[in-house]
Amino acid sequence: MTQRPNTPVLDTPVFNKLALIGIGLIGSSIARVTRARNLAGHIAISSRRAETLQRAEELQLGDSYSQEVADAVKDADCVIVCVPVGASEETAKAIAPHLKPGAIVSDVGSVKRSVIDQMQPHLPSNVHFIPAHPVAGTEKSGPDAGFETLFDNRWCILTPLPGTDADALDRLSRFWTACGANMETMEPDHHDLVLAITSHLPHLIAYNIVGTANDLETVTESEVMKYSAGGFRDFTRLAASDPTMWRDVCLHNKDALLEMLARFSEDLSALQRAIRWSKGDELFDLFTHTRGIRSAIIDAGQEVDLPDFGRQAGLNSGQQKSDSGKASE
Ligand code: NAP
Repeated sequence: MTQRPNTPVLDTPVFNKLALIGIGLIGSSIARVTRARNLAGHIAISSRRAETLQRAEELQLGDSYSQEVADAVKDADCVIVCVPVGASEETAKAIAPHLKPGAIVSDVGSVKRSVIDQMQPHLPSNVHFIPAHPVAGTEKSGPDAGFETLFDNRWCILTPLPGTDADALDRLSRFWTACGANMETMEPDHHDLVLAITSHLPHLIAYNIVGTANDLETVTESEVMKYSAGGFRDFTRLAASDPTMWRDVCLHNKDALLEMLARFSEDLSALQRAIRWSKGDELFDLFTHTRGIRSAIIDAGQEVDLPDFGRQAGLNSGQQKSDSGKASE
């Protein structure tokens, strides 16, 4: 399946003023696509640290910059919170008194139930809170890591709360569609379960295997590096992901992740047994089945069929424009 072309530049922006709270990989990608495709008349950026804000300004990601969230959200008709999920509550408390009545408040967090529980109690009833999760990312962080096409042909999952205003939902969906995303709606707990197996568990496995290799006494570190093309290096990309983000994902999707880890451990024990008792047919059947799953992912346009996953040597992966450079979170 070929990659869908970028969505066009809009004649009329979706929002008059978009406020981005947090300007790392995801926030800066939203800023870039918003600017490139005319999705908002004004982009206001807020970040916690002066250095991050200064870098965002050097990169000309927005129209105004402030460490004070109050300045950014003032008069914004859409506010997107792009901070680690563990900072959702303090961010909601900080923005709440300054929100324009009727504004859309959304987020991009990789976990949905916890973010809702953290933010909803603090937001005024006259704004539209619509949680969202663009399922796209790389292992890079910070304002330099973002790129315009990050969301092209990736899924953006909305987890609207009961009674969500249909017009606000439609407007936020139009925004994400114009960012290039395909839209899906899910119940928050189901989202957390689906992402636990498709994203959170794979990252944990990667962190674990890279940690194990590092701890081995019988194989030297230089041997691990030298022969990493045997498979190990593919785990290292995931294991290089932002520690703050993934600590927060683990702590805030605890139940679903523990359930998936238990299933994973059981299946790993079965695999161990099959190897111990030389059950070649069992191994062969499993490996044949899993190979089919990869083909299905390629057919769904969520990966490219290249031996190096489409990585181009010498390119900073945060800047990659190739499809697979956007290795989903
Ligand atoms: P990032 O590149 O590390 O940027 C994080 C941003 O949040 C920075 O602006 C940072 O500000 C700010 N921040 C960090 N800790 C904070 C705190 N305690 N309070 C307030 N602000 C804080 O992160 P990212 O990859 O864009 O991730 C942002 C969100 O997107 C997370 O919720 C993550 O779950 C979600 N997400 C990530 C991916 C991915 O693959 N990375 C994909 C989809 C969704 P300073 O630099 O000024 O400190």
